[in-house]
Amino acid sequence: MIVNLLNSPSYTNSNLKGKNLADNAIAFKGYGNKVLCDYIYKKAYQLHRVNILKCDVKGVENYFRNLGVDANFEGNNIVAYGCHKAAEIFRKLNFILPPKIGMLDFSKEYHPDAKNAWAVCTLFHERHGISNIFPPRSVIFNKFMHNPVIQINGKPCSLNWENYAYILQNDAKTGWMSTGHFFSVPLHEFAHNLHTHHLYSKFGSPEPAFPYRFNPFTNEILKTLKKPIGVYSDQVKKDISEYGTDTRFETFAEDLTENIIQSIDPFSLTLTKHPFSVHDDNPVVERIVGEIWEGVIQP
Ligand SMILES: [Zn+2]
Repeated sequence: MIVNLLNSPSYTNSNLKGKNLADNAIAFKGYGNKVLCDYIYKKAYQLHRVNILKCDVKGVENYFRNLGVDANFEGNNIVAYGCHKAAEIFRKLNFILPPKIGMLDFSKEYHPDAKNAWAVCTLFHERHGISNIFPPRSVIFNKFMHNPVIQINGKPCSLNWENYAYILQNDAKTGWMSTGHFFSVPLHEFAHNLHTHHLYSKFGSPEPAFPYRFNPFTNEILKTLKKPIGVYSDQVKKDISEYGTDTRFETFAEDLTENIIQSIDPFSLTLTKHPFSVHDDNPVVERIVGEIWEGVIQP
């Protein structure tokens, strides 16, 4: 789950309000040299802005329907475009897709504490009473951020989908997120879905959930993975991101998202290499991420 970004180090500028923020300075990890990386990302993002505006949201929903995924973006072309690109990458890697992708007003329909979260991936049926609507591994995006104003470099900036790319870039700049790429949120949530599927396939689902076998003991593994990274916190913060230290689930999602971003062509958003060929600088972090993926990390 992407947590409340208001908790992250932040910044503001009244000039930024209501402005197309795509033209602002960009920081994200990937493509080598930082200055060149920012330049390339900026050029690529201009192209993606056009594609996002042209995005056929109904067409993306049909694309998912043909893959057996129930998707409803409620007209949000930013989310639809990002999910389509993320799904193409996941299909290329033969990774499972979420069973359902939807939009909710988190403050009213999910959980008030998550009112300013970008998105979540559900682990359990019953979570926050949405069990009948969203099966496990569903990815749900927040319809409204309730428009809080956050500070970015001492300047005000509204937290909403229009400013989404700009806010992510700054979250990468501060080290809060592992990458500020504009479609890192769909990738991050798809990564949770993949991880959960791997754990349920291996250990069984903690609740009866087709097609997994039922195993209440899996709850203990999930509890361990919901704990913060603990003694490895500083290393994970340095190598992955600060948010990656929040829980072990986030360590994995943040790491895979960064590795995928570093493995794609910025313009086509398609893979140029296998993301698992990207390694963490720190071998300890690499080992920890592997243990989290396998659900064998010690409590
Ligand atoms: Zn997450």
